[in-house]
Amino acid sequence: MAKETREFQAETQELLNLMINSIYTNKEIFLRELISNASDAIDKVHFASLTNSSLLGDDTEYQIFLIPDKNSHTLTISDNGIGMTRDEVTENIGTIAKSGTKAFLEQLKQTKEDGNIGEDLIGQFGVGFYSAFMAADKVTILTKKAGEDTATRWESTGDGSYTIEDAEKENRGTSITLSLKEEFYKDGAELDLTDTYALQDLVKKYSDYVRYPIKMNFTTEETPKDEEGKPIKDAEKIKKTELRTLNSMQPLWTKNKSELKDEDYNEFFKQQFHEWEAPMEIFHTKAEGNVTYTALLAIPAHAPFNLYHTNYEPGVSLYSRHVFIMDKCKDLLPDYLGFIKGLVDSPDLSLNISRELLQQSSELKTIGRAIEKNILKTLERNLKNKREAYEKFWNEYGKSLKIGIYNSMYTGSDTIDKLKNLLLFKSSKEGKLVSLKEYVERMPESQKKIYYATAKDEGTIEKLPQMELLRDKGIEVLYLLDNVDEFAIEAIREYEGKSFHSISRGDLDLGDAESEEVKKETEEIQKTNDDLLKDIKETLGDKVAEVKISNRLKSSAVCLVTDEAGPSLAMEKTFADMENPFFKARRILEINPHHDLFGRLKAIYKEGKESEDFKDYCDLLYTQALIIEGILPENPVDFANKVAKLMAK
Ligand code: ADP
Ligand code: MG
Repeated sequence: MAKETREFQAETQELLNLMINSIYTNKEIFLRELISNASDAIDKVHFASLTNSSLLGDDTEYQIFLIPDKNSHTLTISDNGIGMTRDEVTENIGTIAKSGTKAFLEQLKQTKEDGNIGEDLIGQFGVGFYSAFMAADKVTILTKKAGEDTATRWESTGDGSYTIEDAEKENRGTSITLSLKEEFYKDGAELDLTDTYALQDLVKKYSDYVRYPIKMNFTTEETPKDEEGKPIKDAEKIKKTELRTLNSMQPLWTKNKSELKDEDYNEFFKQQFHEWEAPMEIFHTKAEGNVTYTALLAIPAHAPFNLYHTNYEPGVSLYSRHVFIMDKCKDLLPDYLGFIKGLVDSPDLSLNISRELLQQSSELKTIGRAIEKNILKTLERNLKNKREAYEKFWNEYGKSLKIGIYNSMYTGSDTIDKLKNLLLFKSSKEGKLVSLKEYVERMPESQKKIYYATAKDEGTIEKLPQMELLRDKGIEVLYLLDNVDEFAIEAIREYEGKSFHSISRGDLDLGDAESEEVKKETEEIQKTNDDLLKDIKETLGDKVAEVKISNRLKSSAVCLVTDEAGPSLAMEKTFADMENPFFKARRILEINPHHDLFGRLKAIYKEGKESEDFKDYCDLLYTQALIIEGILPENPVDFANKVAKLMAK
């Protein structure tokens, strides 16, 4: 096929520009990215060779070469991995097919505005290859796919287009040649990428655990010596070339825990899993028995930006006898532990079966269950003994556990029992995070239920009319601020025999003697005003299901609550956001019989239920209650007009 010049996909170009012009501080990491691609490519060819043994031919020794050239100012990274076909080059290098890329670009721009490009963003989004343009003015790829005859040459200066043509290459694999920017080869360069020792340092720093040897020729010069071993003056120096392997390759997880320091682990997660901060928790376990495995796992310092997005893939890789099998294994751990990163290495996992079969294997399930147990035990221990660290964990990943609880309603697993003790909520007491256990332990004996309130933030809850009475009585209320919270609480149903009760749903039953009396009194008032309440309901029509006298209000005139059984207003909103408008809350308007407004309402009611004033009053009461719940009236202008009319009276 002929040589073609093609345009980069617009987004790719945008990304390239950001890379090229970035004030990115750590340009050297491009090497880690290219080496990691080479290593991935070798993984792939190895994996393919398991079912197609002729694929490797004579070229069975996996390796990566670094070839610096001081004369041409180039650096070549070459591998004998899977290689790419012409179409694959176009697909993988010319376009950004990945769905996370748009989000990446946005984050990149944002961080750039903030003055620094986040190192952690590169790699997390799989834009590794383009980082080559941070060090190079021109990048040339020469690649030949394993099992094919034709090679492909791709070349670009990163300025909008690239060329692609058929080429010749002896062996399978990929060579990437960077024509270095002057700052990386000129005399006195801070980082000379044609210098073998500088490259050796970079490999040690970033790629030491890469599973395949990274090799480079070192040229040394020696002055010839005479028979006595003394250097011969003025003799021409002897050049010696020596091929060295730069990385140690011994997998960290095979070492003993006692040999390893925190830094070793942190460095490992930086290199292998692109973690730029030390993980908040590391698990390094070895098990023998039913199944034998080593696990090296971590809870990263921060949740990935797309953890709750459908495109998120979990971060655990599988190895068998230190040989890579697969990454992003979905079926090892339950979804709610999707944030765990790391790897499991087990001789009981078979290399030679398909991804699908492997994911269903009973060995994998056994290992997964053991690891899950271990992680949960550690979390429980931290909640007890390392509160601050646990709260940090909770703030990053608490949502995952709550979603886990909610989802278990459908999967019918025992997840609820496993996770309910790990939950934390803000509460009206001290504004701190509290566990369900702590809540139950400190509630007064007369209290039979666990009370909670739902809103988007603490401030809104604290101002809810329903809160006033509970505050006065010193009853602690849990704050449910996440959309998923109320769903999770519903799934748990009860904790240590105490049911959960929303302060905005059903009857407010506080259980103490005083409340019993108020309840009776409320029922009385309800009876005497039966006609009034019926007519308010009739006037409001379908907007509310019921109008009632309230026993939960103190200084406010009205509030809107919902049935205990159906969805709450907050849930209704969540469903509506998910474009699922079928779940409607059953709205109950509650009126405070001790508020002056109630007297006024009764007076106006004497004019009859058809009077305009009465209708306006009903509407205003309802709209007020809506606004308190943070729901805008359907017709704000109408509302404002009615208020104005009333004020002008
Ligand atoms: P990622 O490695 O996260 O997929 P990169 O931008 O680093 O993203 O690479 C893009 C794609 O280009 C890779 O997924 C791979 O398909 C292809 N690729 C890059 N380098 C090589 C290589 N050395 N050998 C084979 N394919 C490669
Ligand atoms: Mg990559």
